[in-house]
Amino acid sequence: MTKTEIEDLKTNLQSYLESHGIDTNKLFRCVNPDHTDNNPSMEYFKDHKVYCYGCRACYDLFGVISAMENVDRSEAVKRAINYYTNGYMPKIYKPKPKDIRKEENGTPKDYTKAYEVWKKNFSKNDIAKNYLINRGIDLQTAERFNVGYNTFKFGDVEFNAVIIPSSKNCFTARNVDLNCNSKNRHYRPTGCQSEIFNVSALKNDTPYCVITEGEFDCLSFETLGVNAIALGGIYNISKLKDAEKDKNKTLILALDNDERGKMTTEELIAYFKENNFKYLVFDNCGFKDANQALVEDKERFENSIKELIQQLNKKLKTQENEM
Ligand SMILES: [Zn+2]
Repeated sequence: MTKTEIEDLKTNLQSYLESHGIDTNKLFRCVNPDHTDNNPSMEYFKDHKVYCYGCRACYDLFGVISAMENVDRSEAVKRAINYYTNGYMPKIYKPKPKDIRKEENGTPKDYTKAYEVWKKNFSKNDIAKNYLINRGIDLQTAERFNVGYNTFKFGDVEFNAVIIPSSKNCFTARNVDLNCNSKNRHYRPTGCQSEIFNVSALKNDTPYCVITEGEFDCLSFETLGVNAIALGGIYNISKLKDAEKDKNKTLILALDNDERGKMTTEELIAYFKENNFKYLVFDNCGFKDANQALVEDKERFENSIKELIQQLNKKLKTQENEM
């Protein structure tokens, strides 16, 4: 087979997923065997890739076959050739019993009371406060966003975490133990709906709103007094489209500088153009994300974003005068 033919095979990803009972029109459970995905976090993209918002795995067809059939990449390529050029259809994938997601019944859990307690815990806990300070977030911002602290117990594993509430039913918890393994770094309650974080920033009087990916990126901008939202652990583009109706606001895209972030930026730009939204792109000074920019070079990060906003304000003023 030629290289192009092998490349072409990748366009079968959607059909492969669908033939394994996965609905590619919505988020589905991550196929990475190292990620216990209790909330569906993986999305299929039209460029024949899947991306997980939880563990950030990004796979093409061969990557998905490797993950789901537990083979290495070269074997996955062989299998794909078999499936899609020799007319051999893959077996229907049946999730292992432990993978079957329990349907949530009844109303989602309300954490309002817990948040109050966790917020008090935070104010008394130096480890939690230092965790935030080390990530560049000031304590007034933490207070404003009701950041909390709690110890969760999963079996005999203790998980000491900073909690960032995103709605009364949903929060993100970050393990403050920096040596913890990657599986125990984040926690989100099962079944909680991922909401846009700080959604009010889209509706206030500020003439712009920065759009980030993660809660810490949003808090990084807010620490500098810059109006921002986070799309949530999930890039909730459809939710953003629902929430954003104010065409007078300039939206500043500041997503992560990785493949996934760039793809989402492009997707949003296309949407903004189509619907006549005003937008700008901010590259987080070339860092991986806003939080890394804040931690690594606060001065440059702050100057760059403020300069962009200043230019925007100037432009808006001129337009006002012209009217
Ligand atoms: Zn994952």
